[in-house]
Amino acid sequence: MAEKKNTAAEEAAKKALEAAQAKKAAGKVQHTYTQVGQQSASKEELLAVTKKNALPYRIGAIILWVLAICFEVLAILIFVQKLQLPFTVENPGWTISWIVCIVLDLVCVIIGSNLWKKSNHLDPASEKNKFLFWLHNNLGVIMAILAFVPFIIIVLTDKNSNKQSKIIAVVVAVVALLIGGLTSYDYNPISQEELLENADIDVVYWTASGTVFHAYDDCSHLNNTVELLTGTSASAIENGKTRLCKTCEARAEKEAASGISSVAEKADEAVEELTETPVEEAPEEEAAG
Ligand SMILES: [Zn+2]
Repeated sequence: MAEKKNTAAEEAAKKALEAAQAKKAAGKVQHTYTQVGQQSASKEELLAVTKKNALPYRIGAIILWVLAICFEVLAILIFVQKLQLPFTVENPGWTISWIVCIVLDLVCVIIGSNLWKKSNHLDPASEKNKFLFWLHNNLGVIMAILAFVPFIIIVLTDKNSNKQSKIIAVVVAVVALLIGGLTSYDYNPISQEELLENADIDVVYWTASGTVFHAYDDCSHLNNTVELLTGTSASAIENGKTRLCKTCEARAEKEAASGISSVAEKADEAVEELTETPVEEAPEEEAAG
């Protein structure tokens, strides 16, 4: 019995070694590792770092949203002919230049909302207050509505312009609203609770350009990266990596469910059982003697 278990342990170790050698032979990259230190000692300190990281993105988003509203106001003034630019007087074709303003409005909305999304991933809102969490994640969509709906309302209620130009203006603004709204929506929001939940892993790996961190350095998403950064998950979060890679998460859950975290541990378990066996067998030997 004891010998059988010993062989099982040896086989498991052998298999692990073979798997490692096979991987090398398959031509997968050899990673280089750079250790990254952790600044924060507590959850409060970690959140202070993430807040600081997110601030430039938040400021950028607000500036772009303000610019978007400025372009909307300009579009309104041109459409209702309150503002006549020199070239619109000389060349009546240019009276349609409100379209340029709506396009610039849309560009500002898209960039602003994407900066906002980035800031929310770096420094997520708490899920405890559902309304505030929703508001925080959908502020980009709200700004997209503010950037186009007032223009649509003013166009529809304008008494001086003809029906045809009204239809063109409404169609353009509705299309811009749809594009702006859809690109501003965060399809995969992250909560502060989720961030903190993943902040206590001892060793994780990440790449300089990626947005996630990995629990395994042999994760398929790292196959093409030579230079890996490594440290605690808190240090990965401090460096702007917002969540655990889905592939690694699924793998960790699967391994936790089966109660085995690696082939090496399987071997360890077999050895542990081995050391326990003689104690159980001892009384039987005495009885026999
Ligand atoms: Zn991964």
